[in-house]
Amino acid sequence: MSSHYDVLGVSRDATGEEIKKAYRKLARTLHPDVNPGEDASDRFKAVTHAYEVLSDPQKRRVYDTTGNENGTDNGFGGGSYSGQGFAFQDIFETFFGAGGGQGGPASRVRRGQDALISVRIDLRDAVFGVNKKLEVDTAVVCPTCDGSCCREGTHPVRCDICGGSGQVQRAVRSILGQVMTSAPCGSCEGFGTVIKDPCNECSGQGRIRSRRSLTVKVPAGVGTGTRIQLSGQGEAGPAGGPAGDLYVEIRVNNDATYVRDGDDLHASLNIPMTAAALGTEISLDTFDGQQEIDVRAGTQSGEIITLRGLGVTHLRGHGRGDLKVHLQVETPGKLDAAQEDLLRQLAQLRGEHFTAGKLAASGGVFAKLRDRLGNL
Ligand code: ZN
Repeated sequence: MSSHYDVLGVSRDATGEEIKKAYRKLARTLHPDVNPGEDASDRFKAVTHAYEVLSDPQKRRVYDTTGNENGTDNGFGGGSYSGQGFAFQDIFETFFGAGGGQGGPASRVRRGQDALISVRIDLRDAVFGVNKKLEVDTAVVCPTCDGSCCREGTHPVRCDICGGSGQVQRAVRSILGQVMTSAPCGSCEGFGTVIKDPCNECSGQGRIRSRRSLTVKVPAGVGTGTRIQLSGQGEAGPAGGPAGDLYVEIRVNNDATYVRDGDDLHASLNIPMTAAALGTEISLDTFDGQQEIDVRAGTQSGEIITLRGLGVTHLRGHGRGDLKVHLQVETPGKLDAAQEDLLRQLAQLRGEHFTAGKLAASGGVFAKLRDRLGNL
């Protein structure tokens, strides 16, 4: 069994950078996507394993001292190719050129895009939260080829035109004379490999469009414009790339009864003039069921009764806003003779005179609020 240094073709005192360079060079020619042979596959595993050990200073030290990476003396023990502890990002970048500027082939595999969907909910659902079922239409990994883009049993093959580098050299004349520039290979679109036998279902894209339903947990307290992020539920990337995120944007329907201001709810309640004068108890139908409210004797139009904690749940933190009931006193419009007579007697008893009035700000707080907030 040759040493890890031999496998990578570097000396025992090679620097980390030299080891990385050697590995990258070998991996490019041995990677199964480029070199489908059985031999290459085994060598690729051995090379990757050697790199895994030598690129980690601690593992390398153990290997240098004991001759194997387990710190024991039984030469072969546990020398698996599991790749555990190996930085996947590193290998990913090595092959898929995430770092760019290496001049290597581009990757077919890319992260998918984020998706945005908007959903309408009722005010009650914003108050308490709701599980909402959604239909989403996104790209998903092709179930037939599992994102490989290839028909079953086939692999991408090295591009003949660029030799797998994904780049072609071109001579360009400039004022400095002839210079060579590289451009993505037109034959393989810069991927370095060509899919000769594309998967039928996805036409070699590795993903298809699909409609699916999912349930999103809308938390209590959301408002119009709140976005809920569902990671990995967006568009699947090309060639089996990871999916982007799905953003669900909330729109809250206007409610027939309540107007929302922050986490408070406002509603208007009309009470007869006599009830306002004499006081009464009224049963109100709220999001939290029937609530008894006391209208005190002598209530004026525009007074507000606050029901603590019956508003919208705070999105962050605990508790809820308040429900504010704006009382509007109704003056009777049509009086019959007997009623009119009674009111005249009342006015006389109270010693009321019809005098010139004094102007004051009026119009009702609730009416103003509705003007300000209406039709959000
Ligand atoms: Zn497919």
